[in-house]
Amino acid sequence: MPVYKLIDSHCHVFSHEFDEDRLNVLKRAYDIGVVGVIESALDLKTALKVLREVKYPSSNIKIYLSVGLNPCCITGSIFNETYSFIEENFRELTAIGEVGLDFYLTQDSTGREKQISYFKRFISLSKEMNLPIIVHSRSAGKYAIQILVEEKAERVLLHAFDGSFKSAKLGVENGFFFSIPPSITYSIQKQRLVEKLPLDLILLETDSPSLSPVRNIRNTPENLVISLREVARIKKIDLINVAETVFRNTVKLFDLKNL
Ligand SMILES: [Zn+2]
Repeated sequence: MPVYKLIDSHCHVFSHEFDEDRLNVLKRAYDIGVVGVIESALDLKTALKVLREVKYPSSNIKIYLSVGLNPCCITGSIFNETYSFIEENFRELTAIGEVGLDFYLTQDSTGREKQISYFKRFISLSKEMNLPIIVHSRSAGKYAIQILVEEKAERVLLHAFDGSFKSAKLGVENGFFFSIPPSITYSIQKQRLVEKLPLDLILLETDSPSLSPVRNIRNTPENLVISLREVARIKKIDLINVAETVFRNTVKLFDLKNL
């Protein structure tokens, strides 16, 4: 085991892409220092699968459950079902998310307005339940941050933020956290963002199976170490130092226990 401990603050390892080899994937990640993952379930079937794993763990990695919805595909009934599930199970949850805005996939104003109104309801639920909120904000970073500030969101993670530092700045001023995926290896936008973000607001994520260090291959939580290396390189800070700070940031935001 390495000397540092890492937590994947946002991934989807319980999605069908990992049905063949989930245990091996988790084991490989554990061997390189990943002690915990925050799994974002985007449907209730997956959420139940994760809850079972939380109760009866099959690997050494600690699994935490977050429940949310892909902003592009919400219908009224799916929203209501998910909302009630979160209300009923909030004690078992570590966060709400991912939820938010996808202005890349949704271009029309009616669709965007709908996303904004669901997003606001998830923000108020997160405050009511005192759960952090993991935010998806594709081509909508500036709007998402504005809404979070207006709605007085308190514990926020902007995952794979795709905007400039200028768009992120209001979030930084409000103490929002930003998680950095392995796609930073080729994303100039993410490299520039990390350059300017304070280390005290940085977390690491893989978003597995997406956002791998090389385009179009399946991402896995062991690639978290690639995000770590890149952040250390860009910030010109010792790797162990970065790992420890980021671990502390993650525990603080999600109030994680037993790690
Ligand atoms: Zn995701």
